[in-house]
Amino acid sequence: MKELKEKIKREGHAIGDDIVKVDSFLNHQIDVEFMDKIGEEFYKRFQNKKVDKILTIEASGIAIGMCVAKYFKVPLVFAKKNESKNLDKDTYNTEVFSFTKNKNYAVKVSKKYITENENILIVDDFLANGKAALGLIDIVEQANAKVAGIGIVIEKAFQPGGAELREKGIQLESLAIIKRIENGEVFY
Ligand code: 5GP
Repeated sequence: MKELKEKIKREGHAIGDDIVKVDSFLNHQIDVEFMDKIGEEFYKRFQNKKVDKILTIEASGIAIGMCVAKYFKVPLVFAKKNESKNLDKDTYNTEVFSFTKNKNYAVKVSKKYITENENILIVDDFLANGKAALGLIDIVEQANAKVAGIGIVIEKAFQPGGAELREKGIQLESLAIIKRIENGEVFY
């Protein structure tokens, strides 16, 4: 998605040689109009698939997921990372290793919101080692539901997540694929 690649170049910056910071439109402040274009682009790429629900992971996935869900006219479910007294007790649970925080965290989805045979489109902001996406796939599989595809806003191709997910035969659509980061600059 040309507009996204240009926006990352213009507004984003690299931290070291493997992290991209896009706080001005995706991870802190949200460019809502632009997010809507992202939702429309994912809709175009997956409109041939049956999609009953969108699944993402809090926090940054929520804004993206909402825009995608709007185009598919289906609900968005977001996996919860934080313990909360008001979360249903009957949950699907998995563990995800966080690339940015360098530690494992528990992820939960109430069994009410993903059910057998539903077609689930997974979306997230970044794809690095694929642990967040694999955790969400695990939750879909625990529910005996199906993964319709995975939509990622920014994939870093120099990390192994993309290859691993494509090897599974899942339709993976990444709107910007960064090949490398050099001296603070991203290359597609
Ligand atoms: P993975 O699970 O694929 O290793 O990493 C994906 C998750 O880590 C995403 O949900 C995202 O929140 C975070 N992440 C990974 N790489 C980056 C990055 O370069 N920049 C930002 N802002 N988040 C990242």
